[in-house]
Amino acid sequence: MSSFWSNEFWRIARMVLLCWLVGLVLGFPLWGVIIGLVVYLWILGKRYQRFAVWMRGSLTEPDDFDGIFDDLAFSMYRVHQRSTKRKNRLSDLLRRWQDTSSALPDAVVVLDKNGDIIRFNQAASTLLGLKASDQGQYIGNFMRNPRFIHYLLTGDYNEHLEIASPLDITKILNIRMTPYGQDQRLMLVGDVTHIQRLMTMRRDFIGNVSHELRTPLTVIMGYLETMKDTGVCDEATLKDYIDRIEAPAQRMKSLVEDLLLLSNLDTGAPAGLSGSLVINVAAMLKNIVTEAEQLSNGQHTISLDVDSDIRLKGIEKEIYSGFYNLVINAVRYTPEGGKIIIEWLPYGDSARFCVRDNGPGIAREHLPRLTERFYRVDVGRSRSSGGTGLGLAIVKQVLRRHDAELHIESEPGKGSEFCCFFPQARIDLHENSKQEKREVS
Ligand code: ADP
Repeated sequence: MSSFWSNEFWRIARMVLLCWLVGLVLGFPLWGVIIGLVVYLWILGKRYQRFAVWMRGSLTEPDDFDGIFDDLAFSMYRVHQRSTKRKNRLSDLLRRWQDTSSALPDAVVVLDKNGDIIRFNQAASTLLGLKASDQGQYIGNFMRNPRFIHYLLTGDYNEHLEIASPLDITKILNIRMTPYGQDQRLMLVGDVTHIQRLMTMRRDFIGNVSHELRTPLTVIMGYLETMKDTGVCDEATLKDYIDRIEAPAQRMKSLVEDLLLLSNLDTGAPAGLSGSLVINVAAMLKNIVTEAEQLSNGQHTISLDVDSDIRLKGIEKEIYSGFYNLVINAVRYTPEGGKIIIEWLPYGDSARFCVRDNGPGIAREHLPRLTERFYRVDVGRSRSSGGTGLGLAIVKQVLRRHDAELHIESEPGKGSEFCCFFPQARIDLHENSKQEKREVS
């Protein structure tokens, strides 16, 4: 700064001295000094004009302004460069924050120390309904749940909070808050509805399994206690007790078997097309019908209509369980004298498996829940007929693993129809039929 002023001082001094000398030679030294000063001021004014034009512009690298304005312009240019760099760095940081946060599936909201919104990502708009115009507003205006307000105000963010979504009460949000930047807070919000539902399902499932096992176990324990209390008993009584124990023991066995099967279906490797074998469905259905007739014991008319040329690519054991459950259900729920029709026939470019009965039918409100584990329309009837409540859940899983769909149609008093639709990729036409089709075309 001092060289800045001293340079300019020597510049004036040189100019005035020169003019004074010229004035002295001409005999007007004072006029020489005055003219020297005026010329200096005029040059200064000219330089200022150029400087002012440059300053009003975009502050590019300055020209040589000469003298005081040269130093000034370069100082200003350096300050401007520094602040532009800082601004670029900040906007780069902000852009990177926006890019990163918008890629997150969770909502991210930055709050100031009062809980006012500073910024948020795309997911926050979806999950919390925040709009760009909401910046600067208090977050409590959008999330009015008293538990959230308490969480926000206490400042104790060791725990996370789970509350219903402000947009949809059926959704559960998980909220975590953490101190951030200077006096700011970072709020992370995730949709955990799916996890919550799974946890509830798991809890219900364990409760149901325990309940299903406890009932037959209590019966078995009851008879064992009686046998222990009464001591030695005659052969006929002993046989009677064993007969009575057999049914609940059988029920427990069926339940454990169905549970194991379901667990394998849930966790097993997918029944992909490459690993699948071609199943002779016609032959499989003949075996299932034989078993159904044994169970029916002549009480039903069971008819089978199959296209033996249509085969299925899949896992035979699983398909057998799925089809078997549907046929056996029809036998178990259809009263004596009823009719059961089993079909494996072409359906468009593909094929479908259907089991139709003229049994009691199922009321419409039960249909969407029938494939849930342990869901029964009539618990007593299901148990007395040996049902575990898992049959249709097994069917659903088997079909899911074979890219197929289950359609149920039923009307109380008119009977039920359970149909499995397979995609064309799962169908394999037997050689004879392929040949026939080629000849026809
Ligand atoms: P369950 O072991 O109780 O039969 P499922 O999962 O196989 O369990 O079936 C669920 C419920 O669907 C049954 O409890 C029964 O109420 C109903 N259901 C299944 N098949 C039929 C059918 N063919 N006719 C009438 N109701 C049926």
